[in-house]
Amino acid sequence: MDLKTFKKLYKRFNQFPLSKQEWEAPEYEKYQEALHDDNDCGDWYLKQKIKEAGIHYKRFCCLSMAYRLVEDKLRNIEGNVDRIMTYNKGHKTFGIPIHDGGASYIKIAYCPWCGKDLSGYPVPVARCASGSV
Ligand SMILES: [Zn+2]
Repeated sequence: MDLKTFKKLYKRFNQFPLSKQEWEAPEYEKYQEALHDDNDCGDWYLKQKIKEAGIHYKRFCCLSMAYRLVEDKLRNIEGNVDRIMTYNKGHKTFGIPIHDGGASYIKIAYCPWCGKDLSGYPVPVARCASGSV
């Protein structure tokens, strides 16, 4: 699927709650396939979700990390099992949340998705502000 078509379908299928008629449409299956199997469509989707959350993805090592921080930023932290990555501003550390009802996490030094050393992230806003974030 080309990115232009994907963007149109994103607008159509990103309205929640989605009606049964919409998610049973043949285009919905194609949209889901493109989302998961096409890198351009998948990356564009992640960028949309990250931007909607008010996160500057260029501050992070990769799109995957920035996307996993959306749950950390948007929803309540305690008890949110969708939250699989956290960033602690006070300690400047990334970590894997422990879902014990509190805000505990296991500190990590390297990104689980791209393998980069996380000590240089997030990049200060000023250093990535020139980008089109
Ligand atoms: Zn990464």
